Amino acid sequence: MQTNFSLAQLADPDVAESEKIIRTCVHCGFCTATCPTYVLLGDELDSPRGRIYLIKEMLENDRPASAETALHLDRCLSCLSCMTTCPSGVHYMHLVDHGRKRVEETYVRPWPERALRRLLAEVLPHPHRFRLALLGAKVGRPLRRALPGRLGRLLEMAPNRLASPSPVDRPQVFPAAGERRARVALLSGCAQQVLSPEINEATIRLLCRHGVEVVVARGAGCCGALVHHLGKEDPALASARANVAAWSHELEGDGLDAVVINASGCGTTVKDYGFMLRNEPQWAEAAARISTLAKDISEFLTDLGGLEIQRPTGQKLAYHSACSLQHGQKVTAQPKVLLEAAGFRVQEPRDAHLCCGSAGTYNLLQPELANRLRERKLGTLLELDAAAVASGNIGCITQLANDAGLPVVHTVGLLDWATGGPLPQALQGNPAFVEGHPQMAAAE
Ligand code: SF4
Ligand code: SF4
Repeated sequence: MQTNFSLAQLADPDVAESEKIIRTCVHCGFCTATCPTYVLLGDELDSPRGRIYLIKEMLENDRPASAETALHLDRCLSCLSCMTTCPSGVHYMHLVDHGRKRVEETYVRPWPERALRRLLAEVLPHPHRFRLALLGAKVGRPLRRALPGRLGRLLEMAPNRLASPSPVDRPQVFPAAGERRARVALLSGCAQQVLSPEINEATIRLLCRHGVEVVVARGAGCCGALVHHLGKEDPALASARANVAAWSHELEGDGLDAVVINASGCGTTVKDYGFMLRNEPQWAEAAARISTLAKDISEFLTDLGGLEIQRPTGQKLAYHSACSLQHGQKVTAQPKVLLEAAGFRVQEPRDAHLCCGSAGTYNLLQPELANRLRERKLGTLLELDAAAVASGNIGCITQLANDAGLPVVHTVGLLDWATGGPLPQALQGNPAFVEGHPQMAAAE
């Protein structure tokens, strides 16, 4: 795409970076076919190419974002399917992040929208606040029909049952069982530890059982992705700095072989810390080092090798590949290979490349589109007639939880169980996971 920026505009490093990205787009439109919002809405402005054009216009003309630009950028899921499809290597993620920041700085949204975004940004990244909000939502659920639009929906989405905080999420070191093969820091995260504390518990058990020392570093917290995707750069960068400082302290102390992340939405962001902090001389080098160390749990376990399977498996699983894992991090084979090596039979739905509609806070901010994507994805997952769905991202797991009797669990929960850990909560009472079930024999 041709651009027309002045030298003064290009003096801003963010604009210079975006200009470089825009120029790599050759208008071919290949990305439109795999963009979930274009597939649903058929509007060019809801395609990657249309959004690139809107961002270019906004930046080139140095004017506040219009309502139209805000609308179409807000509808983008940041699923990054377009980056997998694009033959020209357009780095849409960095461009849309910059576009969102500009919208946040220059566009005044209607007040209910502003209030909702603010609420999400102030609550979700903080486990204590999020827990209190969910408890409040549970109490207030009878009022959901009286509340307008998305506020009522927020109450509906609050889980019926809230697990107690897990002691594993406090700063501490979990020693390796037997001889130590590696030492890693685990991102204990924010919303995930409230919604499903068993995911970090399973991750720690699984790693320690296979000779890995795990540290939950003091000072590390939310990765910053939730606010980053809302265009709120300051709190996103503050989270990035805090995590870089906490993990660098461990790296320089007892050493780290990896920073392990078990929520792929967070992993995509931590792997991007080097870019996010590139313009801050005091942080740039350390952030780049941490990004290099960042590994999705499935990548780390694949490199580690040698999972010791202790239970009869063989169940058929539907694997839902989170967009942040397959498109954001290009981690596609590892989770499936690990599950198959553990004895499960793994299949993917026919629309595996398409988003389920979760996308961080998207299902709260764009419930109608998110719900259409969810129904579509659940339909293709149910076609597989599997005993359970495995996925590597809490957002997808929450989004796909359903009443159709198809449990959705984290990949590490299944691997932990297969190697001697407890059965994930969502699978308890599921006959396919009781010894002697015919699905287990099918694999033998
Ligand atoms: S990130 Fe996803 S929703 Fe956004 S433009 Fe790309 S493919 Fe479309
Ligand atoms: S596929 Fe890539 S180059 Fe083609 S229009 Fe989309 S973003 Fe531009």
